[in-house]
Amino acid sequence: MLHTVSIVNGKSLGGAGDSITVKNPSDLSEIVGEVTFSTPETAQEAVQAARVAFPKWRRLTGDERGRYLYAMGEALERHLDEVATLASQEMGKPLAEMKGEVIRGVNLLKYYAAEGVRAVGHVIPSSAQNVLQYTKRVPLGVAALITPWNFPVAIPIWKLAPALICGNTVVWKPAENASLSAYKLMEVFMEAGLPEGVVNLVIGRGQDVGAYLSEEAPIDVLSFTGSTGTGLSVAAGCARRNVKYQTEMGGKNAAIVLNDADLETTLPAIISGAFRSAGQKCTATSRVIVEEEIFEPFIESFIENMKAVKLGHALEHGTYLGPVASKEQFEKVQHYVQLAKSEADVIYENQEAIGYDGYYIHPLIITGVSSDHRLFQEEIFGPVVTVMKVKNFDEAIHLLNQTPYGLSGSVFTNNISHALRFLDEADIGMVRVNLETAGVEYQAPFGGMKQSSSHTREQGQAALDFYSIVKTCAIKY
Ligand code: ADP
Repeated sequence: MLHTVSIVNGKSLGGAGDSITVKNPSDLSEIVGEVTFSTPETAQEAVQAARVAFPKWRRLTGDERGRYLYAMGEALERHLDEVATLASQEMGKPLAEMKGEVIRGVNLLKYYAAEGVRAVGHVIPSSAQNVLQYTKRVPLGVAALITPWNFPVAIPIWKLAPALICGNTVVWKPAENASLSAYKLMEVFMEAGLPEGVVNLVIGRGQDVGAYLSEEAPIDVLSFTGSTGTGLSVAAGCARRNVKYQTEMGGKNAAIVLNDADLETTLPAIISGAFRSAGQKCTATSRVIVEEEIFEPFIESFIENMKAVKLGHALEHGTYLGPVASKEQFEKVQHYVQLAKSEADVIYENQEAIGYDGYYIHPLIITGVSSDHRLFQEEIFGPVVTVMKVKNFDEAIHLLNQTPYGLSGSVFTNNISHALRFLDEADIGMVRVNLETAGVEYQAPFGGMKQSSSHTREQGQAALDFYSIVKTCAIKY
């Protein structure tokens, strides 16, 4: 059985904390592995190891660092099936989707590998005679990465790869219930022969190891993805010490469907945004705001299209959405399901029998709540969608903006004015026309507005700005 511990300086360390047995959320009778947590002392050792490794790593040429990243990408490609299967068993995302996530990880590693030989600054004409003035991006030092469980492969890599190519060394703390996948990923990365201490994995709990990293550890930069509550406290811990940080947090994403939308293409996009990964994406579609003229045909078509949405074991072929990832997640989403059943009108609930004892939540579509209702305001992170009827585009935009979050959103329309006004007026970071709210690309910046992020961006070129700092150099000759 897979047993997970921390890896510091390339060596596995027995954890001094408590242990848990990981059960497959698709089938709780199946034991997937065991996790032994480390304590903040191990995190301290990991930070020290990363600190020692930093001077040599930063002195490598970008080309040399890029070769390591490329080799990590190739190693991951070789182990694609193994990594995807384990991650599916650990968190319940359907295997086909998890494979897509691993491929995204491979692409991220190769994309950032190539950044090693790209420009790191600009020449800026000096006002003085005979002075060469230019900027140069340099690494920050030790980067702490705190990652969630919903994208156990892609999110760690989209932090790790830009951090490393910029010349930082890393201490990575994955989510408790993504520890097995994290350990497996580290084993794969070690095949690329990274120098000791450049990437260190600390398997630990958020409240002690996570808190140590954000509040005390001598780190230089921290990147966090998770819930808004935790993100705000991580941000405060970093700001107090002037550690550079970024936080990617929650969302309450809406899709607007206007009268002229093409329902044949709109519905698959809304269903995918709402129910893939059982709604456990920060960019998941959680609200659908529909113009009144198209409301009835939209609902009819929604219910019709839901026939293709099969709930089942994550490793079974044809499963559209698997279980939610954990007992805590199950209880939290069930709470919203009960709330919906008692305070909203249920439009659709899938009733399929599953045949396994797992954390299954049947997809649920509801309506009949006001805009200040918890179901319309709070992040559910499960397969529950709230639909609301509005009079016109203006009311739709107003409602869309009426939550504390601002991560992603879509409008479905063929009206160019409405599409462009949506792109301008929606207070959200990822604005999409005739596309689902989820599904962003690795080479483009990712992030939200309002309470969804620290107003920084990840992925693409934006990540390079985050994991480095600009020096302004001047030479008199
Ligand atoms: P979720 O509720 O989706 O599990 P969290 O925000 O609690 O999201 O978790 C995201 C990541 O933050 C995980 O790696 C978790 O261990 C970590 N974490 C949880 N609490 C803290 C904390 N107080 N300080 C730092 N990290 C934390």
